[in-house]
Amino acid sequence: MSDVVLPQAQPAGGGLPERLNAVRSGIAAAAASAGRDASELTTIVVTKFHPVALIEELAALGVQDVGESRHQEAQGKAESMAGLDLTWHFVGQVQGKKARQVRAYSTVIHSVDRASLVDALASDASVVDCFIQVNLTDDLGRGGVVPEELDTLVERVLGTTGLRLLGLMAVAPIGTPPRRAFARVRELGERTRRLAPEATSLSMGMSQDYAEAIAEGATHLRIGTAITGKRPLSG
Ligand SMILES: *Cc1c(COP(=O)(O)O)cnc(C)c1O
Repeated sequence: MSDVVLPQAQPAGGGLPERLNAVRSGIAAAAASAGRDASELTTIVVTKFHPVALIEELAALGVQDVGESRHQEAQGKAESMAGLDLTWHFVGQVQGKKARQVRAYSTVIHSVDRASLVDALASDASVVDCFIQVNLTDDLGRGGVVPEELDTLVERVLGTTGLRLLGLMAVAPIGTPPRRAFARVRELGERTRRLAPEATSLSMGMSQDYAEAIAEGATHLRIGTAITGKRPLSG
């Protein structure tokens, strides 16, 4: 984790290796203070809006897991980088009519949030790993299932061929202390495990709050700007 080799020359506008190292150190420190082993954490570098060249640079620095949130962009990148053997995590909202396409290039889908999407992702031919996204806000447009409907959705995933449930995913809502939000996800994860004993993972923690997420049991961190720098066209 700490012995990343810095390249001799940095491209213009560099600093990526330093930022990656800084986040890796931050993760190691947060894990240590939570009494956890950093090796049980998967760090996904979220590369939305960034060019393929940046992902290639990340791959050269030893990054294996990349995250994308917009289907067309993700599909294009995954196709053009098929030779790199990266693990593609889809973290954005999935449109029902694009579900099969998202499934085709994604190793893990973090944003399963409704019954119709579960049905659209069903397959007899292959299995895709997924998280159920939980919405911790009062805004139903946010993506994620509300906690009251979580158990029903868990059962739906368990009853569907072609999906393997890893656990829960969430984004900490703006305006609440992230630690409290992640504690809630941890509780919901425990509840989920009563129905799905193997769904032990928690996808939570981003650039600003990954330390709090690690303290509450995150297993998959989704980190963008702290590693990539500012997004070029983010909207
Ligand atoms: C963009 C994004 C991230 C990364 O956010 P940063 O604040 O840049 O670290 C994580 N999760 C999801 C769902 C995202 O859309």
